[in-house]
Amino acid sequence: MHIYPDATAVIRDLSPDEPIILNRPHAAARAARFFVEKFPGKSLYAVKANPSPELLQILWANGITHYDVASIAEVRLTRNALPEATLCFMHPVKTKRAIREAYHEHGVKTFTLDTVEELEKIVEACRDDTGAAAQDLRLLVRLRVSSEYAELSLASKFGIDLADAGELLRTTRQHCDWLGVCFHVGSQAMTPFAYVQALERVRAAIADASVVIDMVDVGGGFPSIYPDMEPPPLEDYFDVIHRHFYELPIAYNAELWCEPGRALAAEYSSLIVRVEKRRGEELYINDGAYGALYDAAHVGWRFPVEALEDDLRDPPEEFSFFGPTCDDADFMKGPFLLPGDIKADDYIEVGMLGAYGSAMKTGFNGFGDAEQVNVANEPMASLYRGDRIDARESDNVVSLR
Ligand SMILES: *Cc1c(COP(=O)(O)O)cnc(C)c1O
Repeated sequence: MHIYPDATAVIRDLSPDEPIILNRPHAAARAARFFVEKFPGKSLYAVKANPSPELLQILWANGITHYDVASIAEVRLTRNALPEATLCFMHPVKTKRAIREAYHEHGVKTFTLDTVEELEKIVEACRDDTGAAAQDLRLLVRLRVSSEYAELSLASKFGIDLADAGELLRTTRQHCDWLGVCFHVGSQAMTPFAYVQALERVRAAIADASVVIDMVDVGGGFPSIYPDMEPPPLEDYFDVIHRHFYELPIAYNAELWCEPGRALAAEYSSLIVRVEKRRGEELYINDGAYGALYDAAHVGWRFPVEALEDDLRDPPEEFSFFGPTCDDADFMKGPFLLPGDIKADDYIEVGMLGAYGSAMKTGFNGFGDAEQVNVANEPMASLYRGDRIDARESDNVVSLR
């Protein structure tokens, strides 16, 4: 595949009418190696952040062997892209048919649950032809934890309350030789303390259950870097998790897992959009709420932007974006900082869209097409450059270009 040096080279060559997704394989490879080398346990990739088969293969080639899948379609897709990967079905609510196919046809042994009903479903669906119960299940009980330190909550939907966790852990233990506890602190957790608080809850659940725990999975939530959202270095998260994990009352050989989605995928992609019309400080662009900019519209996420024209002279001003569909909801408030003289037909690069960006595109209203090309330059920001002088600060600089 042809690799362009950067976004400017792409627009010069293609003058695209449609948005274009720019992928940076080197950035995803670097993120994968960072987790593989520095996280003090096993790192699973949460496929929902970006299920692109190319990305899956890059992560695999750089040492990510386990994948967190949440639907039977993700099981099939990941199995297809990575025949040898270990797949873990981490959605606490699954259909019996999905569990059956995952276990019997795709070799999935690891399942998450947060109710006794789900446990019964898993046990039933994994029986063999003679009706004998599976002997090789690896089960995780998902604990409900706070999302107060995360930008996007995952607290209210899944996870068993601490008060009921002990009993579910004891019941689950009777059906598997390998029992884990997992949680998710919410996406884009801005402080390592989020994990401390959650691990304290794990400790309480284990103490209450009085069962042997073989694994603790601290979930996703590891941050990436966006305007006004500069997290501490990931090493700080890893240190804190490691320390608190070792203090838990668990089997001496218990494993530590994590399931990053955003942190592994965010730097992989950016997006070229074109301004189709300008109305004051509002730019009408050709991607939006139903495209890769879902989070910009629905939770006001401020992705970094750069104008790709070299004839713009005015100082930066604050703009908001309208997407291409016909409804008012297709609006991204921003503010996005762009040269004051930006105008129709100018191109813009929107950065850090590898996680929950390109994966969110729909075909609504006929706007869904986006060619994908590879580029060689750096993402607009990175947690993984490794070329810093002071490892604590310059690793986290926004707009490294
Ligand atoms: C979404 C999700 C992840 C990934 O979360 P990030 O915040 O992207 O790291 C991991 N585990 C589970 C169970 C999830 O639902």
